[in-house]
Amino acid sequence: MFDPISLTVGAALVGAGWVAGRFGRLRTRRTTAESALCGCGHDLALHDRENGRCHAEIFRKTGHGLREWAGCNCRRYTGPTPLEELFTPTPLPPVQ
Ligand SMILES: [Zn+2]
Ligand SMILES: [Zn+2]
Repeated sequence: MFDPISLTVGAALVGAGWVAGRFGRLRTRRTTAESALCGCGHDLALHDRENGRCHAEIFRKTGHGLREWAGCNCRRYTGPTPLEELFTPTPLPPVQ
């Protein structure tokens, strides 16, 4: 019946399904957006729409065996513009 434990388990199951659906959707989107890669190797979504700069962070070597995070030095998106980016739909919550 509706004791606290089965309620918690039920909520966890619903949450897990929601997360799985969300990640599945992200994965699908990623495959379709793979053609929209810039010359720097990053997705169009990582580029600023205003000035075109890439917001991705890369792990670069500093020359002393050390590594540090650094911003991508790409200044403008050079890849193709996919239609889905021109008409970006408003993200909707998943339908149960
Ligand atoms: Zn980049
Ligand atoms: Zn770029």
